[in-house]
Amino acid sequence: MENSSSPGDPPLPARRRIERVRFEPCRRELVVARVERPTPGFAAITLAGPALAGFQSLSFDDHLKLMLPQPDGTVAMRDLTPRAFDAARQELRLEIALHGHGPASLWAAQAAPGQPAVIGGPRGSMIIPADHDWHLLAGDATALPAILRRLDELPPGSSAQVLVQVENAADERPLRSAAALQAQWVRTPGQWLQHVRSLALPSGDGFVWLAGEAATVAQARRIVLDEHHHPREALRAAAYWKRGATAFHERLDEPGR
Ligand SMILES: Cc1cc2nc3c(=O)[nH]c(=O)nc-3n(C[C@H](O)[C@H](O)[C@H](O)COP(=O)(O)OP(=O)(O)OC[C@H]3O[C@@H](n4cnc5c(N)ncnc54)[C@H](O)[C@@H]3O)c2cc1C
Repeated sequence: MENSSSPGDPPLPARRRIERVRFEPCRRELVVARVERPTPGFAAITLAGPALAGFQSLSFDDHLKLMLPQPDGTVAMRDLTPRAFDAARQELRLEIALHGHGPASLWAAQAAPGQPAVIGGPRGSMIIPADHDWHLLAGDATALPAILRRLDELPPGSSAQVLVQVENAADERPLRSAAALQAQWVRTPGQWLQHVRSLALPSGDGFVWLAGEAATVAQARRIVLDEHHHPREALRAAAYWKRGATAFHERLDEPGR
């Protein structure tokens, strides 16, 4: 294990350091066990099978690769959040935004029980401690599965502010957590950024997690750092997709950015 602090960062209490854990790459052949529509814009797909033996995902912002054979013989690989894993039942839940373009979204829209599905990873986890005084979880539809998982995992006594952008009001859903929860849903990236700007970040030692479209998350990250003066070592920002690009993933919190 290693921590993600860089040489210039102020020392963090050991318990607040992000731990990186790596796993052996592993390809798993599974089947679709169930398909649900938690809201009209998402497919929740439960994959199952004995190949899930040994599956590990230790952090809400882990990702696995869904491998999707294409008509031209290539295999498209798309990053998805392991939304929930039940080791006893050998079931893994994914939630995929139905944005209407691209192999993952199109596959999710037509998925049905009995179909095969192949995944790889996660290849590792970055474990963000849950015992910060407060957590800000902000993102778009692609970040919602990770945010929901974090809300499932935060312990009683913690506190979370959630800010989610989904285009349609029908894709808002009730949020539950053992943490004290404040949630805000917005429709557009512009409104989302405006809310990030006008947030009152609580005092104390908090962690900010941002994920979503590349350009929007990059702007939000600058607002959090430059306008809220939030410490960089207590921020994680990731581009989960990029307008006009396929299969895009970029961490925006590398030292020096
Ligand atoms: C760590 C990580 C975890 C992720 N977890 C999830 C998850 O749990 N659920 C989930 O739905 N997504 C998740 N994503 C985002 C997902 O990988 C991307 O949205 C991916 O591009 C979807 O693949 P696709 O085949 O549907 O579209 P692609 O073939 O990659 O893209 C096709 C076109 O659609 C556009 N596009 C891609 N995503 C969106 C979108 N959400 N809305 C509008 N246009 C889009 C692209 O810009 C491109 O023009 C995650 C990404 C990362 C990096």
